[in-house]
Amino acid sequence: MPTPSQTDPLETALHTAERRSADAVARARDEPAADLQPPRNGTPAPNGTDPNTARVPQPRTLGGDGVVPGPRKVVLVLGGGGMRGWSHIGVIRAIERLGLRVDEVVGTSMGAVIGGLYAGGLDSFGIEEVAEEFSVKDYFKLNLLKFLVKGYRHASVYKGSAFRDALARFMPQQSFAELEKPFFCNALSLTSGVMQYFGLPDAPKTAVADAIYASSTLPGVFEPLEIDGDFFVDGGMAECLSLKLAHARGGDLILASDLSIKDHHAATPYRATLPHILFQTYDLMGVALNEHNLHRYADDKVVLMRPKVGHIGVLDSPDVSELIRLGEREALEMLTTHSLTRYLCDPDTVVEVDRTIRRPRDYVQLDVDPGACIHCGICAVTCATNGFAEVKLGSVVRKLHNYECTRDMACERSCPTRAIRLHNL
Ligand code: SF4
Repeated sequence: MPTPSQTDPLETALHTAERRSADAVARARDEPAADLQPPRNGTPAPNGTDPNTARVPQPRTLGGDGVVPGPRKVVLVLGGGGMRGWSHIGVIRAIERLGLRVDEVVGTSMGAVIGGLYAGGLDSFGIEEVAEEFSVKDYFKLNLLKFLVKGYRHASVYKGSAFRDALARFMPQQSFAELEKPFFCNALSLTSGVMQYFGLPDAPKTAVADAIYASSTLPGVFEPLEIDGDFFVDGGMAECLSLKLAHARGGDLILASDLSIKDHHAATPYRATLPHILFQTYDLMGVALNEHNLHRYADDKVVLMRPKVGHIGVLDSPDVSELIRLGEREALEMLTTHSLTRYLCDPDTVVEVDRTIRRPRDYVQLDVDPGACIHCGICAVTCATNGFAEVKLGSVVRKLHNYECTRDMACERSCPTRAIRLHNL
């Protein structure tokens, strides 16, 4: 194996990848790969083999004698975030450009819409065409008559039927088994409080479009989906990025696109209208809930991508191509610099992207303004990866460059004096 030049970071990275690959090959020899794969929807393939295993591509070769087996199962997780969700298309485009494979897809809310289209066989350009057809004005029709007749005794501001019909037009599959890739989306039962994961064996049997409608129907905006006397609303109300399910599916590599990023140093203008107060509250609740989710599940199998779309409101009418560009940029930067994925990426694209990246994205820089810090100690107890120290005087930062950071931004959000700024997110 060639010795890398000490001055060439790309060569060093590829050399490191080759060494890791060799280690992985050695490990793989001792591990039963195929029988660890959970069955898709609990249905064994006719020949007794697991359909998931059959889809795993052959190992990639980086050249020389280094053979890269890659992870055994790659799960793509797309989070909720209303209209910001179009940026997931850019994330998928980056995955395509880098030649990464995806074995299963998990989506929540708008992530379920994009994930369902992707699992159904559309590539990022096909999904973009759907996005161009989709207009907020077309699908958000006021339930005016029902409001006049029923007042508060009606379930939603808008008619869900137009949105539901559009989903059915784009996703005609009557069952999850008809999709090209295993796909799962979550919705919250209003009657039991249980999170339902459509696509799992015991989930209610429903058309894919209806499950996606359930996963993305914001309470009060559209009517909940009724299935056998149960009523489902947007899964993002309790779990807007389902890393939990991706781990449960046995993902060895989890590529997660999370839209809950927020700039805590920039105020969102307040508008005294019911929709603004409602959506802003949903949004902030989602960020707080996701903090715990990331603490618990953003581990060393997860590559977390957070497109910089926090300035877009949940039901804004954004520039879709700009959102796609932001998603693609974030994913290219993260996937080509993260140690879990860099070695799997197409080397030519890595070289191309390297020219535009100033800093690798595999760490988060912690910065505290000493003039603003009151040494309350909240950051030390909040940070899941010991980035801060509880000290009465002096710097509270323990890890200036935090490679383990779960990127939940809990420290920045919890600091009472806004002394903390995170960089390289
Ligand atoms: S939470 Fe903020 S104010 Fe409190 S110790 Fe940490 S940096 Fe200082």
